[in-house]
Amino acid sequence: MEYLVIGSGVAGISGAAAIRQRDSGGRITILTEEAYPFYSRIRLPDFLAGRVSQEALQLKKESWYREQRIDLRLEQQVAALDVAAGSVRTLAGASFPFDRLLLATGGVSFVPPVAGAGKEGVFTLRTLGDAIRIRAHAATAKRVVVIGGGVLGLEAGNGLRLAGCQVTVIEFFDRLLPRQTDPVGSALLKARLEGMGFAFVLPARVEQILGEERVSGLRLADGRELACDLVIIAAGVRANLGLAREAGLAVDRGVLVDDRMCTSHPQIFAAGDLVQHRDTTYGIWPAAQEQGEVAGANLAGDDLRFTGMVPSNLLKVAGIDLFAMGDIDGEGRREQAAIVNLDEERAVYWKLVLDERERLIGAILFGDLSHRRRLVAAIDEVRAVSPGLRAALQEGHLERL
Ligand SMILES: Cc1cc2nc3c(=O)[nH]c(=O)nc-3n(C[C@H](O)[C@H](O)[C@H](O)COP(=O)(O)OP(=O)(O)OC[C@H]3O[C@@H](n4cnc5c(N)ncnc54)[C@H](O)[C@@H]3O)c2cc1C
Repeated sequence: MEYLVIGSGVAGISGAAAIRQRDSGGRITILTEEAYPFYSRIRLPDFLAGRVSQEALQLKKESWYREQRIDLRLEQQVAALDVAAGSVRTLAGASFPFDRLLLATGGVSFVPPVAGAGKEGVFTLRTLGDAIRIRAHAATAKRVVVIGGGVLGLEAGNGLRLAGCQVTVIEFFDRLLPRQTDPVGSALLKARLEGMGFAFVLPARVEQILGEERVSGLRLADGRELACDLVIIAAGVRANLGLAREAGLAVDRGVLVDDRMCTSHPQIFAAGDLVQHRDTTYGIWPAAQEQGEVAGANLAGDDLRFTGMVPSNLLKVAGIDLFAMGDIDGEGRREQAAIVNLDEERAVYWKLVLDERERLIGAILFGDLSHRRRLVAAIDEVRAVSPGLRAALQEGHLERL
């Protein structure tokens, strides 16, 4: 059996490992357009900060690929997928046949249509290659603007702040982390980040990136101008759909897959940031890993299911504890039923979001994560909150969960 995997991120690698567990004789080839073997994207902000080396980002040793008999081919950008012929062609003209294919081409950074976004010194952060280029540019840059106050924007900005840059974050919404916090959590977060040296402009929309060849600043829609010499655009991620769409696979916001991670073609499975499963595109590491495992197992003849997961996010900025999971009710639609606790003195805040049947469906924790595990378990099982438990929680006893 000839297995081909496109993409060596967490979905592709966990898929390949799951295939090998079940098929010791099949040939497994992984193609990636990147020049580096599987590494931690999650730690790229630490790399920007100079706190982790390029080597330490690598997640598998060379010996692992050898032992697993996985043929990893770097710098092989797949340009076309021929479903009928069962082969792919790379940009350099090489052809790779397959009996079974795992598509794991991940996501690409979304760049909004802002004039000047192609100037030197304007970056997105998705790959180790991006991070290496940003670091090289940051060596001669002091003033950084991050467009986008989501998790990625704040973590990337923090990396460059730790590397000695002044960082200003511009956010389109009127609060930071609009998908992970509500207004109270966001205000606490902003105050804490300002205390660390961050500056914020929000709500604001960037109209133009200024400069000759190299970025020198940007203009906002209200006419204000900010000088800067490095811009990071962190405006979201989109599924990297090109190959799948051109090959005629069913796509929407992502490649459509069933619970077995099978696409509209029975020999082609897909996993990770690329896919849309039960109308959800996750964009997080644990989902990509689990989907990859399920896809790989099924490609090798098993019958596993991915039935979805409650997404969660942890902000990884040292000195700030912020965790969000499930429905955080950022707009206050479920305010009546929520259980909220705010200790302004300690800057500790948490909110538990309940559905109409008094079941726990989401939460925000800020400033104290000591009960995070309990909370994750309770949300995962959509635990019902009895009147007695509600009373205890309202008095601040999160440990009673
Ligand atoms: C800076 C940063 C921080 C993050 N922090 C977190 C976090 O804290 N927690 C969390 O849960 N998630 C985080 N994420 C998201 C997480 O990294 C992704 O959800 C995860 O990497 C998705 O894995 P994937 O395998 O689907 O795709 P990717 O990791 O994007 O891998 C895609 C692979 O496909 C290859 N590829 C694409 N197109 C082609 C082609 N045409 N030919 C050949 N190869 C191709 C690429 O080279 C790459 O190897 C972060 C992401 C970034 C960028």
